[in-house]
Amino acid sequence: MIDAERRAALEVIAGEVRGCTRCRLAETRTRAVPGEGDPATEVVFIGEAPGMNEDREGRPFVGRAGGLLVNLLGHIGWQRDEVFITNIVKCRPPGNRDPEPNEIAACAPYLERQLATLDPSVVVTLGRYSMGRFMPGVRISQAHGTTRHAEPATGAADATVFAMYHPAAALRTPAIERESYDDVARIPAVLVEARERRAGTARAATSPTTVQADRGATSATATPAAATQATAGPPTATPAAEPAAEPIDQLSLF
Ligand code: URA
Ligand code: SF4
Repeated sequence: MIDAERRAALEVIAGEVRGCTRCRLAETRTRAVPGEGDPATEVVFIGEAPGMNEDREGRPFVGRAGGLLVNLLGHIGWQRDEVFITNIVKCRPPGNRDPEPNEIAACAPYLERQLATLDPSVVVTLGRYSMGRFMPGVRISQAHGTTRHAEPATGAADATVFAMYHPAAALRTPAIERESYDDVARIPAVLVEARERRAGTARAATSPTTVQADRGATSATATPAAATQATAGPPTATPAAEPAAEPIDQLSLF
């Protein structure tokens, strides 16, 4: 899909989300929050649900948690408009209560379609609700900072999932904030490895000349949108030197 098609497909989904009444969160929201970002990005960040500020503005991560997310991205030289940012649930649960399973299930098709459209190389989950969609059955205290291959049923056809704490948890607990900076620092290496895996898959499945033709992911630099590498900011310093996270099932803990 070319960028214009991707952008148009995302806008169709966003339009449906804004008018959605598939679960009861529609009754109490001010504005639904479909998500936003670069349609050509290789990296999607997925939070939990909109809060008060997001509900007011109709945009994801614009409150204090969003401020920390921007700082975390800045730690690796990325900007929020270079990635795509969305949530598991697109409407604010009243009083910021946790989303309920039936609400998560009702909203899931939108995220699946966003992921199918974006076809990201890396999906970063923020918090345990988001992680639960991609790494069911793990504890965030053990799984944060680790990777796993996304189940294609999530909508992401060939993505590496990377789990992080929710920025709101990091705001509450300094130790979690420190761990979040350590975790985010691994993302460029995770992206490089995911690109290499996808290039290998493409090479096996298609003729060698078409490999990486789509988004030009031939470089070892790790800005989140390969197509805009020349302008999207500095490449990370030493992506190759950073060890990639081990798959969760290979981790030995304690
Ligand atoms: N927290 C989230 O999980 N998502 C937002 O969009 C804002 C805060
Ligand atoms: Fe629709 Fe999702 Fe909002 Fe529920 S949370 S009304 S399913 S967009």
